Amino acid sequence: MNYYLWTIGCQMNFADSRRAAEELQKLGYREVDRPQDADLILLNTCVVRQSAEDRVTGRLTSLQGLKRRKPEIRLALMGCYVSEIPALQHRYPWVDAFIKPSDVAAVVDLATRHTAPLTPQPNESPISGSQPPVSVGVPISYGCDHLCTYCIVRLRRGPEVSRPVEEIVTEVRGLARRGVREVTLLGQNVDSYGHDLAGVDQREVRGQWHPDLADLLEAIRDVDGLERIRFLTSHPADMTDRLIETAARLSRVCEHMEVPVQSGDDGVLRRMGRGYTVAQYRDLVARIRKAMPGVGLATDVIVGFPGETQAQYEATYRLLEDLRFDMVHVAAYSPRPDTPAERLPDDVPPAEKERRRKAVDTLQERIVGEINAQLLGQTVKVLVEERYKGKWRGRTRTNKLVFFDVAGEDWTGHVVPVRITWTGPWSMQGEVEEG
Ligand code: SAM
Repeated sequence: MNYYLWTIGCQMNFADSRRAAEELQKLGYREVDRPQDADLILLNTCVVRQSAEDRVTGRLTSLQGLKRRKPEIRLALMGCYVSEIPALQHRYPWVDAFIKPSDVAAVVDLATRHTAPLTPQPNESPISGSQPPVSVGVPISYGCDHLCTYCIVRLRRGPEVSRPVEEIVTEVRGLARRGVREVTLLGQNVDSYGHDLAGVDQREVRGQWHPDLADLLEAIRDVDGLERIRFLTSHPADMTDRLIETAARLSRVCEHMEVPVQSGDDGVLRRMGRGYTVAQYRDLVARIRKAMPGVGLATDVIVGFPGETQAQYEATYRLLEDLRFDMVHVAAYSPRPDTPAERLPDDVPPAEKERRRKAVDTLQERIVGEINAQLLGQTVKVLVEERYKGKWRGRTRTNKLVFFDVAGEDWTGHVVPVRITWTGPWSMQGEVEEG
């Protein structure tokens, strides 16, 4: 049995796909590169912007012909595209299963319903390809409790549900035993992790005891074999000093945070329903940078939100110029069905949205180019993830991509001191520091 997997969207989707792939491999399935070679096709989808949704519908349409020719292929659609299932069944009758985001058990169910009992071949294990990558995303919560007016994620993924601490610790230990050196704790908003869990001996939130993200970091800090810990995405209104202090103190937690600002104007932030002001955001960045000098900071920005004036956009631009992030994910506002912002007039013309988006991209390319250039000649510690196009590829603790070339040894999973010899905005190159 073969499976073909196609994933777009956030890190959570990629983590879900990895989990689904592992389960399929346990059932004896092997991954193939072309849908026509598969017995099971899994599309893991995103609808955060119209452009993502268009890619999904394009993919579904292109697979219709294949399904007509080979009706025995099972086609499953998973992720945030899946909402009103009867309507989807009506629209895409050639799809066999619609699976809600992160519901890996439903993928297993579909696969087992169509899998003959395993008969291991000589010299072949039915559980193949199960060596996980060096760096793995581990979902710690599903869904989101924020009500950002532009965002469809809560509508598709539901309210926030945290996984119990012990379950996550067990998973991280298991991954580390299998060679994983870095985990990224994932959630739409990791900073509010645990608020829905009954506590053991932890923090008080609204009169009740709950574990929080800081407790979770403490719980995995000593896992044998683990080298690095990251977490994303944070929400500026939920990040506590206790979390910042814990992240700064624990040596395995990387100097890397992703804290979306979305806009540099208070009026726009209010209409987005973000729950903080620009001044509060600036103060938060200052506290993070004080606690973690040299931290790699990433943010998200939306340009062209309904009613965003030129002056409000310029305030965002100036904030980015001022705070000098290591990464800015910038998107042009895209109205999403059934969100409160969809009812607002989408009054920034597409060409103007694109102009603002490109200007932010150009600014950011310059800033990150300058930040990275400061690393020229310095030695950084790179956790090597894989060999890529004839070079070794890995990341610094601050999440910078580094390539280096050296003969001999397999460096996968090793932390290597690399002296930086070339820098660009998106990556760096270097040489292994001897001795
Ligand atoms: N924790 C994140 C936060 O605080 O916003 C949530 C991650 S969100 C699902 C991913 C990003 O997609 C958002 O940060 C936002 O920049 C972008 N996004 C969401 N809805 C959008 C929309 N309607 N149009 C354009 N970009 C959007």
